[in-house]
Amino acid sequence: MSLEQEIAKRRTFGIISHPDAGKTTLTEKLLLFGGAIQKAGAVKSSKIKDHARSDWMEIEKQRGISVATSVMGFNYEDVKINLLDTPGHQDFAEDTYRTLTAVDSVIMVIDCVKGVEIQTEKLMEVCRMRSTPVICFINKLDREGRDPFELLDEIEEKLSIKVRPLSWPISMGKTFKGVYSLYEKSLHLFTPSKTTVEEGIEVKDITDSLVDDYVGESNARQLRADIELIEGVYPDFDVNEYLNGRVAPVFFGSAVNNFGVKELLDAFIRLAPQPVPRETSVRIVEPEEKKFSGFIFKIHANMDPKHRNRIAFLRICSGKFERGNNYFHVRQDKSLRFSNATAFMAQDRETVEEAWPGDIVGIFDTGNLKIGDTLTEGEKLMYTGIPSFSPEIFKEVVNMDAMKTKQLEKGLLQLMEEGVAQLFTYELGKRKVVGVVGALQFEVIQFRLKNEYNATVQFVPQNIYKACWISSKNPQKLAEFIESKQRHIARDKDDKLVFMAESRGWLQMVQDNFPDIEFHFTSEF
Ligand code: GDP
Repeated sequence: MSLEQEIAKRRTFGIISHPDAGKTTLTEKLLLFGGAIQKAGAVKSSKIKDHARSDWMEIEKQRGISVATSVMGFNYEDVKINLLDTPGHQDFAEDTYRTLTAVDSVIMVIDCVKGVEIQTEKLMEVCRMRSTPVICFINKLDREGRDPFELLDEIEEKLSIKVRPLSWPISMGKTFKGVYSLYEKSLHLFTPSKTTVEEGIEVKDITDSLVDDYVGESNARQLRADIELIEGVYPDFDVNEYLNGRVAPVFFGSAVNNFGVKELLDAFIRLAPQPVPRETSVRIVEPEEKKFSGFIFKIHANMDPKHRNRIAFLRICSGKFERGNNYFHVRQDKSLRFSNATAFMAQDRETVEEAWPGDIVGIFDTGNLKIGDTLTEGEKLMYTGIPSFSPEIFKEVVNMDAMKTKQLEKGLLQLMEEGVAQLFTYELGKRKVVGVVGALQFEVIQFRLKNEYNATVQFVPQNIYKACWISSKNPQKLAEFIESKQRHIARDKDDKLVFMAESRGWLQMVQDNFPDIEFHFTSEF
């Protein structure tokens, strides 16, 4: 097959949701359709249960499990699907944000009882920043949920994206009858079941009397009224609007009952984008370019604590990746040989000989790679769009064992390269402050520093509200600002200037007082 054909058959995506909306269940059903697993229950949830909060060793174990399901490749019809798992636990939100840089589209799962929840809002923000195409799956229709029109309004309002229903539920909860596919003009009747897949019933259109026969007169009347309203209110579905990230097509179903999942998948392979062109520091790279390029979006360490080996996840963006080749590591300005690469299929990892744009390859690494690194066949370009976001909680790292300073520095550096947390080093006194999204990470860092690097640290809470990356068109003004706020100026891992703001009010005041300084909440601007 040619490079173009390989690209055309690939779909690389992630599922996002608030915990408990049904991401794991949906994943499992999709894998069943792909023939990647044989029975339900085979997919381990990468979700970190609340009761494990106090027991983070348990969490690390679960994270271990989630390596296996980090990337699930499977075939459906003639399409090679790569599903990238995203941790639902909010303490690992950074992981999820970064994974979203490696997908070409997402499916967003929403619980029809709970509607749009906070984690979905945050994840959608990341999708919006990148104009990622989103398909929405409203789940749990077998429960008494909210009115579907109300749900759609809430999505538009809270997630700032237009929606277009492509299927529509007929009743809900105990009296749930099924969905009408506006896309295929067919009726799908609901039978609660975890194994069978309903066949669509072709109807001429919504006026067909078959509809009454199947769902009853009053349901049919309601459905016709709903459809009329939909056609009146929502513009016709335009696939380009979807591909530009402006409109999210919406499907309804019940993942646990395997209902509506096949229609979702069928629509997904037709609508969702194949690997898309990507921005770099110098130019846009097309997937069809003959020369290989890709970037690292995730590093998983701790595979074996004794050997400190890590797996780096490489997203291929252009050309063909071949095992055993030398590729150019742009940041280190040197050539590396990649003899050890694995592909991810649903349940196994296997050695991969070649991989194509959209594919994810796992590379064993002994410390050369970090998140955001670009590999090419020699061209000096760097993939962009893998920003750091301001953490929420900050603590100073205090070394408790002066004999182990070197180990501590090495350990901190490596953990930061894995993206466990962010390190800020103050200009004055070189104090080191770690910032995280969830408090859990401090425990993880403390334990791993001790266990893997034999370094002992304590964390001292800091009164910091946000880390703001700063810039200015006027170097003179920037220098003046730094001079006057010296005590609050730090550098991030890439040596970028950061202003550590103590409170929202104070930040506002500082912004007002220094109009020439720009304050950014992400590291890329
Ligand atoms: P995740 O946290 O988003 O991965 O959610 P899970 O897939 O683990 O699902 C959370 C809970 O919702 C589980 O108990 C599922 O069995 C249940 N669930 C998933 N889909 C449905 C559905 O369609 N209907 C109902 N009633 N429950 C569902």
